[in-house]
Amino acid sequence: MTAPTDLSDVLATDPFSRDDIVRLLRAEGDERLRLFRHAAAIKEQHVGKVTWLRGLIESSNVCEKDCLYCGIRAGNRNVTRYRMQDDEILEAVRFASEQGYGSVVLQSGEIRHAAFTARVSRLLDAIAGIGDGAMRVTLSFGEQDEKTFREWYEHGARRYLLRIETSNRALYARLHPNDALHDYDARLRCLALLRETGYQVGTGVMIGFPFQTDEDLADDLLFMQRIDVDMVGMGPYIEHPDTPLYAHREALAPVAHRIDRTLKMVAILRSMMKNINIAAVTALQALDPVGREKALAAGANVIMPNITPERYRNAYTLYTGKPCTDEKPEECATCMDLRIAMAGDTVGYGAHGDSVHWTARMAKEGR
Ligand code: SAH
Ligand code: SF4
Repeated sequence: MTAPTDLSDVLATDPFSRDDIVRLLRAEGDERLRLFRHAAAIKEQHVGKVTWLRGLIESSNVCEKDCLYCGIRAGNRNVTRYRMQDDEILEAVRFASEQGYGSVVLQSGEIRHAAFTARVSRLLDAIAGIGDGAMRVTLSFGEQDEKTFREWYEHGARRYLLRIETSNRALYARLHPNDALHDYDARLRCLALLRETGYQVGTGVMIGFPFQTDEDLADDLLFMQRIDVDMVGMGPYIEHPDTPLYAHREALAPVAHRIDRTLKMVAILRSMMKNINIAAVTALQALDPVGREKALAAGANVIMPNITPERYRNAYTLYTGKPCTDEKPEECATCMDLRIAMAGDTVGYGAHGDSVHWTARMAKEGR
């Protein structure tokens, strides 16, 4: 089936076909702006003109994996490895609570170990004692087994971010070493397990890496719709010289194209999944100083201010050109209010900002 040629007809189509999405990804000029305005109106109607903040704590850059695109992959010897201490993590959570952020995200390289599982559970217990005990915790610790996901849920974690990176199995194999540790099916299984456990499930993809086509991006959005995710964080791929994928940089789309596709992916996804949470990611800001504000105006409703202590931030280099690595968390907080106001939103202080999609899903499932 080919997509309707008139943009209004495409936007009125429900659900979008793969061709419809490709057509929207390629919209230019006035049509491109109409797509963004359409998404902004849906955002306002279904989740409001509110941006939710999640304090991002990059708790360690130690990783057992070797994803071919990532600057902190185990094989990169040019990284100074760090692990934040428990008290440093709790201090950052306290800061987030004092700032009125309803939520924090704990993220790190992937470690699968009983001692790590137990440590995270202890941290979750301690976080429950901070402020009025209402801090929503998102974890982003990569693939783990069912028992671990359940244990962390029992200790209070309610959201989990695990990007599929690309829904195309063949491309996934080009982005990762070909071994049991980097298995596409294992990733899918984890996403299913997280949903079964009761988490608000977040996934996402990288946009504009070598070999990826608009058709692949369309498939990524259809994948998110099919697995019925609650939250999405997707952003531009940014090449890192100390990674194997850097060898393919000639095949890389220009920066402007990667920004364009990221904004359109946000807008199209907002049109497809009206009440989910969609992040305006930091990688966008790395390529465009006001990239995140543009994403908010195109349908995103979450920003993750980095509250990792400055002394560690430089070492958490998934990609190059990461913004604000020398900024103190309090500076970041003030700057954020302004940026969100620029995008025409208010800041959702003092509330969890749960995915409306997840709340509705839980009510329907009687949980
Ligand atoms: N280890 C965990 C969480 C940290 S990595 C995990 O992999 O899930 C978090 C995200 O950073 C990854 O999902 C990936 O999409 C993104 N990332 C890694 N390298 C990147 C790069 N070069 N450009 C853009 N995003 C990148
Ligand atoms: Fe490790 Fe995550 Fe980077 Fe892969 S993307 S190397 S799992 S930190």
